[in-house]
Amino acid sequence: MIKLHDKYFKPFISAKQIDEAMQRLAIEIAEDVGDEIPVFIGILNGSFMVVSDFVKKYPNPCEVTFIKLASYEGVKSTEDIQRLIGLTQDLTGRTVIILEDIIDTGNTLHEVHRIFKNENVKSLKIATLFHKPEAYKKDFKLHYVGIEIPNKFIVGYGLDYDGLGRNLPEVYQIKETQHMTNLVLFGPPGAGKGTQANFLKEKYNLVHISTGDVFRFNIKNETALGMLAKSYMDKGELVPDQVTIDMLNAEVEKNTDANGFIFDGFPRTNAQADALDKLMDSKDSQINAMIALEVDDEILVQRLLERGKTSGRADDADESIIRNRITEYYSKTAILKDYYSAQNKYFGVNGVGSIEDITVRLSAVIDGL
Ligand code: 5GP
Ligand code: MG
Repeated sequence: MIKLHDKYFKPFISAKQIDEAMQRLAIEIAEDVGDEIPVFIGILNGSFMVVSDFVKKYPNPCEVTFIKLASYEGVKSTEDIQRLIGLTQDLTGRTVIILEDIIDTGNTLHEVHRIFKNENVKSLKIATLFHKPEAYKKDFKLHYVGIEIPNKFIVGYGLDYDGLGRNLPEVYQIKETQHMTNLVLFGPPGAGKGTQANFLKEKYNLVHISTGDVFRFNIKNETALGMLAKSYMDKGELVPDQVTIDMLNAEVEKNTDANGFIFDGFPRTNAQADALDKLMDSKDSQINAMIALEVDDEILVQRLLERGKTSGRADDADESIIRNRITEYYSKTAILKDYYSAQNKYFGVNGVGSIEDITVRLSAVIDGL
């Protein structure tokens, strides 16, 4: 992923794919042109890389020149097109091939055709490396198209976002979901995870997705996924990961304006962590960190026994049950600690201290992401 100005872009078309497309264009055009000496005309600025690489692959003699058109610069393309450098040579009777980096709405092409209307060229053909069929609003024929792409903004290989990105040798596509902070939050029983999750959610405008709550909600409201999950539970079987992921997906989609999510209670296994990565990837996003509150066992036992005295929770009253829950927690998190450490995304945070101290430590991790 790269950032240009305020926007994030993800790898989309590799240098190798571009090279192959350019090679195909060069061969196809050379076959059609035959013995003639064509004049290739690049449209500046964007097509400088296309033209440079294209003519190196063109197997026969040719001429090269440029015209310079300028359109509104930014993510929104082409409204007004200005002619900055026009034709400087007589092209009467010549075979002219326009080399474009990208044809989007076709507005630029419209201007190109206007320029050539009175030029008496022998033929005028249009070649473009990229074309966005969904955006194209004109009916000028495109004779040679390298790669058709969806109607999303791209940068690289000559194409810029507000001046930046032209130098990239590969092409990147804009990320629709801009940068989110997605956390997987862990903490042993008694570590104060719930308290901290509430605080983080407020401070960073994150949505707290507790898998337990999501399950209860879906089952209580008898959603299709809830009924499906229940059918497994009623048989005493584990709910398949895909069902859980589908529920989480629904939660993520309900909260499209969030700055990110705190996942709590999921993932528990490598397979689930993989599934969660895929889910985030499908949203043009990612898990940024696994944060685990670390609290010494003896302190946890004391805390939970204290809590048991007032809460009346049976599982907080018995020391051996408490110790079991803590041991189980560590055996489960160890796998995930390895999983996220391998991606440099594991952060252990000291969970001993006042609530305020711990929130300060957590914020330091998040602010550093
Ligand atoms: P058209 O005139 O066909 O709508 O668009 C052509 C011009 O718009 C291109 O030469 C380019 O300057 C700009 N453009 C269109 N789509 C994109 C895109 O996805 N990325 C970038 N960087 N520029 C684009
Ligand atoms: Mg252009």
